[in-house]
Amino acid sequence: MGLIEDNVRAVREKIARAAEKAGREASEIALVAATKMNSAERVHEAVLAGVDACGENRVQELLEKYELSAYEGAPLHFIGTLQKNKVKYLVGKVSLIQSVDSAELCAAISRKAESLGLVQDILVEVNIGREEAKGGVYPEALEELLGQVSELRGVHVRGLMAIPPNVELDEKNFVYFTKMRNLFVDIRSKKYDNINIDILSMGMSGDFEYAIAEGSNMVRVGSAIFGERVYTK
Ligand SMILES: *Cc1c(COP(=O)(O)O)cnc(C)c1O
Repeated sequence: MGLIEDNVRAVREKIARAAEKAGREASEIALVAATKMNSAERVHEAVLAGVDACGENRVQELLEKYELSAYEGAPLHFIGTLQKNKVKYLVGKVSLIQSVDSAELCAAISRKAESLGLVQDILVEVNIGREEAKGGVYPEALEELLGQVSELRGVHVRGLMAIPPNVELDEKNFVYFTKMRNLFVDIRSKKYDNINIDILSMGMSGDFEYAIAEGSNMVRVGSAIFGERVYTK
């Protein structure tokens, strides 16, 4: 142990301060370690340090680390771009798929989950910055998607997720976090079958405090826990 454990503690302290400032309880904010590019060993260190879940971005990387028991002791989430043909590798292994953005993907997840006798929890990813290169549904398409998903028996929508645009100043993401909060409140007030909107997943290493100020209850933190990622592959 050592650095990763210290970093998790430091992130928890920042979460606690941000929560307090916002008049909220730190315990209502889940800390998901964004584990991409980190070895199974390092990921497991984060688990032992007490993160609430691990979030992996790529299916292949997830399967490799899963085999090595990297995530044992914490729930596993999928937070990356997901292709329909990879769904079969995730359902049954992950407790939450955070990055669902189409009715087709929902249907594929639902089919696989039903075949295993499971209900898969998912979040709908919202493209809140309206960036063409990014995944996620546009805010105005959200209700239609939820309407379609409410017919599926193998998925349960638990909330919304967003990755705001890369900005030079982290506090500039505040405007996107505010938009997400409004969307979350609005969607929550509507009633759909199979859908219970209670998770708002937003905020990363550079901006999670702003996200918490705007109501995030799930932050996905990578580099502040593991250090800067080294992209070798
Ligand atoms: C990498 C990643 C994060 C964490 O990013 P950091 O800036 O390293 O904290 C969060 N969410 C998603 C979807 C990611 O891919």
